[in-house]
Amino acid sequence: MKVELNVNPIESWAKTKHKPLLIAGPCSAETPEQLFATAKLLKELGKVDVLRAGIWKPRTRPNSFEGSGEEGLKWLSDVKKELNIPIGTEVANPQHIELALKYDVDVLWVGARTTVSPFAVQEMADALQGTDKAVLVKNPTHPELGLWVGAFERFYRAGIRNLAAIHRGFSTIDKAKYRNVPTWVIPIELKRIAPQIPIICDPSHIGGKRDLIFEISQKAMDLGFDGLMIETHIDPDKAWSDADQQVTPARLGEILTELKVRDENSASRDFNDHLAELREKIDNIDRELLEILATRMAVVEKIGEYKRDNNVTTLQVSRWDEIMKNRSEMGKKLGLNDEFIQEVFKLVHEESIRKQTEIMKAVESKA
Ligand code: PEP
Ligand code: MN
Repeated sequence: MKVELNVNPIESWAKTKHKPLLIAGPCSAETPEQLFATAKLLKELGKVDVLRAGIWKPRTRPNSFEGSGEEGLKWLSDVKKELNIPIGTEVANPQHIELALKYDVDVLWVGARTTVSPFAVQEMADALQGTDKAVLVKNPTHPELGLWVGAFERFYRAGIRNLAAIHRGFSTIDKAKYRNVPTWVIPIELKRIAPQIPIICDPSHIGGKRDLIFEISQKAMDLGFDGLMIETHIDPDKAWSDADQQVTPARLGEILTELKVRDENSASRDFNDHLAELREKIDNIDRELLEILATRMAVVEKIGEYKRDNNVTTLQVSRWDEIMKNRSEMGKKLGLNDEFIQEVFKLVHEESIRKQTEIMKAVESKA
């Protein structure tokens, strides 16, 4: 799949000259004082491109703080005028959009819980037709790339060209480390099929804990993401929503100083020559890998025929167990990541079983 969306580069609407684009501010606008105090310190950092603040909060269960609504928008627009900083908030329906336009919010984002609904996204795209607002689309709560792409297509068809993606991780039952697991392959795949769409990482909602924000942000920079959205609060522990994952503006400043921002390409000739040499090595190694896989599959085919002729099942659980244990040990000795090796051999085994089943079937249908 390739997605041809001619979206504008981030610098054209965010007017930022540096990378990454930085969106920071509280999870929610709570009071005018909290919003202004946070925004003032963020402005002083000199690195924040857009002030974020949630106005309508999609809380999982009722009876939690659900946002300050239109009143909060007024505070947000006052801060915009007073500090001369672009503002952004989450919208989830046409009424939110109407109000956000009324208060001249610069950047609108679609939350993860809304991206999952094509009806809601279409209604919002219709409401935005004819505006030049920037629209950022968070990934849907579950790792389905099609829904994410579909949302971009709906806004694009409505004439929105200032578009970007926000990667905020995916829900899982297993909450061991992250609040929302990053599953980086999904945003990487988005980048591959739609390279024009800028990607912003939201380490706050991925991590769920402030201690994880730096490492997730660094990973996003290592992957060449275009921006970061980081929840920042004047007094994080007292935040009315997402208290555990917010940082102070001062801590945000430290994170930004420590962050290594990488370029996708380098102009250095030496660098490019050496990289080309290393890539040639990789190309050759990959060819050998494929040849070895083909050789392995040829042996699998022989085994399949042998089992068939002797009326033996394709799957022998004990042999499979032995392979997994042994390959995992070998891999560890070679310094390879065990999880990776287990995945590789699971796939190799699956393919071997498929191949042998095909051999058995071929004979059955001949019989
Ligand atoms: C948010 O940004 O505050 C938010 C609710 O995010 P998400 O849609 O990623 O849960
Ligand atoms: Mn939040």
